[in-house]
Amino acid sequence: WGGNVIIDGKSVAVISWFDGEMSADNIKKNLDTLTEKPHIAGSEQNHQLALMIYQQWEGFMFDKVELVNYSVLLSYPNTSNPNVLQLKDRDDMVLYAGHTDQEPPLTPGENDSNVAPPFNAYSGSGEAKGPVVYVNYARIDDFEYLTKNLTLNLSNHVCIARYGGIFRGDKAHLAQRYGCSGLLIYSDPQDYAPNGVPVYPDGPSLPPGGVQRGSLMITEGDPLTPGVPAIDGMYRRAYEELAEEGGVPSIPVQPISYGDAVHFMSQLSLYPAPSSWIGNLSDIDYFIAQSSSNDNETYLMVNNYQEQRTIYNVIATIYGGVEPDRQVIMGNHRDAWVFGAVDPNSGTATLMEMARSFSILRQNKWRPGRTLVLCSWDAEEYGLIGSTEWVEDKGWLLGANTVAYLNVDVAVSGSEFFVSSANPLLFVPLWRAAEMVKCPDPGFDTVYDQWLHYTPHTYKNGGSKPLINNLGSGSDFTMFLQGYGISCTSSGYANTTAYAVYHSVHDNFYWMSNFGDPSFAHHVAVGLVWLKTAMLLVTNPLLPYDPRLYAEVVKNNFDDLSKLNSDLLKEQDITLSYLEVAVMNFEDSCSNLWEDVQRVVQDGPPSENIVRIITDKYMNIERAFIHPEGLPGRPYFKHVLFAPSSFNSYGSSGFPGVSDTIFEATQSGKEEDWNKVRRQIDIVRNHLRYATMIMNEPT
Ligand code: GLU
Ligand code: CA
Ligand code: ZN
Ligand code: ZN
Repeated sequence: WGGNVIIDGKSVAVISWFDGEMSADNIKKNLDTLTEKPHIAGSEQNHQLALMIYQQWEGFMFDKVELVNYSVLLSYPNTSNPNVLQLKDRDDMVLYAGHTDQEPPLTPGENDSNVAPPFNAYSGSGEAKGPVVYVNYARIDDFEYLTKNLTLNLSNHVCIARYGGIFRGDKAHLAQRYGCSGLLIYSDPQDYAPNGVPVYPDGPSLPPGGVQRGSLMITEGDPLTPGVPAIDGMYRRAYEELAEEGGVPSIPVQPISYGDAVHFMSQLSLYPAPSSWIGNLSDIDYFIAQSSSNDNETYLMVNNYQEQRTIYNVIATIYGGVEPDRQVIMGNHRDAWVFGAVDPNSGTATLMEMARSFSILRQNKWRPGRTLVLCSWDAEEYGLIGSTEWVEDKGWLLGANTVAYLNVDVAVSGSEFFVSSANPLLFVPLWRAAEMVKCPDPGFDTVYDQWLHYTPHTYKNGGSKPLINNLGSGSDFTMFLQGYGISCTSSGYANTTAYAVYHSVHDNFYWMSNFGDPSFAHHVAVGLVWLKTAMLLVTNPLLPYDPRLYAEVVKNNFDDLSKLNSDLLKEQDITLSYLEVAVMNFEDSCSNLWEDVQRVVQDGPPSENIVRIITDKYMNIERAFIHPEGLPGRPYFKHVLFAPSSFNSYGSSGFPGVSDTIFEATQSGKEEDWNKVRRQIDIVRNHLRYATMIMNEPT
């Protein structure tokens, strides 16, 4: 099963061999190379990086290395006709002009003509003009406050929101829904330059001219080929169809710095902002609207355009010696908004060092029991495009063969503690992997100890363990989980404070080597946890899973759902009792399967057939939660237990179909909408029954 390898005549355990092999210096060198030039998706620079990785991996004795390309619709700022942001008086005199052309460069490397001006991909293009209005984080509650409590009408207003809380695409979607004619999104110092933390280049915080770029698309994959891969000959729909569906905004949206934002926020003097809306822009008090005596107007013109370009994934495969048709996939994206030293190339630099380590193992004839696949994705930043197209390309081959997908996007954005989100079956492999990795910081033996110290969580079976979050969206695991019910993880090192230079020109090698991880030891730690999680899955005949943890997560989500909604549902005469029974039966079968597997273990080495049966059961528990029709209004999101929240694509929502339809029905009060709730409850109940039946078959 590849648990050991013979090196220089000696048999070594592979899982601990990596400790001595993975090198911080190599990772640092990789990062330096990767971040030399800006490499936005669709650019020649990012193509060159794909070729570099492809050629390197070709020399690594993998069984197969592929450069897989797709032609997809991307969005860019128009450098010959730049976006415009101005504050004008009643005579159209320009009182202030925003820096929509660039973020002022602060270190020599940042002065590069290939840096894309700050923009939000897939923004609507065109003009917006009017008084400005502050909408806080542009969450649904914020808009409800403005339109219900203050009875403001937002049409013909340019809204200004601060980044944070939810996915920016959801901000744009809501701003349009509530009638704003344009949207500015800025990074407030409270969130991105907290007091006492110096700003770049003196420290890690966002300087006054820094801007967060980012995509606004709230669906996933190439905008023109939903559900099918963007290969030659596929029908491409009109982009406008996506806008009509609400997947991209039609209003112009522009990201700006806090240095610019203050000039627009200072126009406001009506309705003092509630305390939770107050940020930390210097020299102003936070208000919501312009008074009628202030007839200055904000003018925004966005000239971004869409263009079909080629993107490149690099995929390397080492076939399993025992079960070549059972695979574990490890992936990270390569494209960056600018230099991307943190996002995503801290992960890429680590992935490249892992690949090099595998090449040493391959030279010594090592082969894992199950197949291992390494992926370098393109165009994640635009909406998980490279990984989504690949999942659409391989489809049921992945559904049939894949045991797990292990994602690392940002490997290191800070060095305080390890964070991870995962499906419950992968909790034990993650914990066990972290227990085997030395902590890079003083005071703790292992990454596990530090992780437990910062985020302890009590689990019924096993006591206090490091917290692992539910998966939402926002990175490349999404379509593996949502399309085919593949168990996923996504992990990295972070700080409690925001990763402030996110998607700005300052996310570069200087930042990482001075503030993020000067020793690169946290990169090594993430790489080792990532690798060891994979090794536990490809070199052990029996997957080290505890299905009882799945039951516990489902039970907790059920309790939350019923606590939050019991009165509402009672009023509508809707019962959760059948669902509750399904949850209880699921719990029982998870415990029974766990006991069955304990018995198998006690009986000595299991037969190949038993291994196959148990592996298939584990894979199929996750598959059982895939509902072919998908969630209401979101046909490509099919997992009935976990999905990105409808109002924040980054967040996770338990029983998403049920909570979304309850929200809609509460808003509309219509009987037909309450029937949708009934149907969603039944769908979840039914999928829990499927998973239970799978586990109850003989082992
Ligand atoms: N990770 C990217 C971002 O946060 C893409 C997210 C997405 O489109 O789902 O901007
Ligand atoms: Ca597609
Ligand atoms: Zn990323
Ligand atoms: Zn990103």
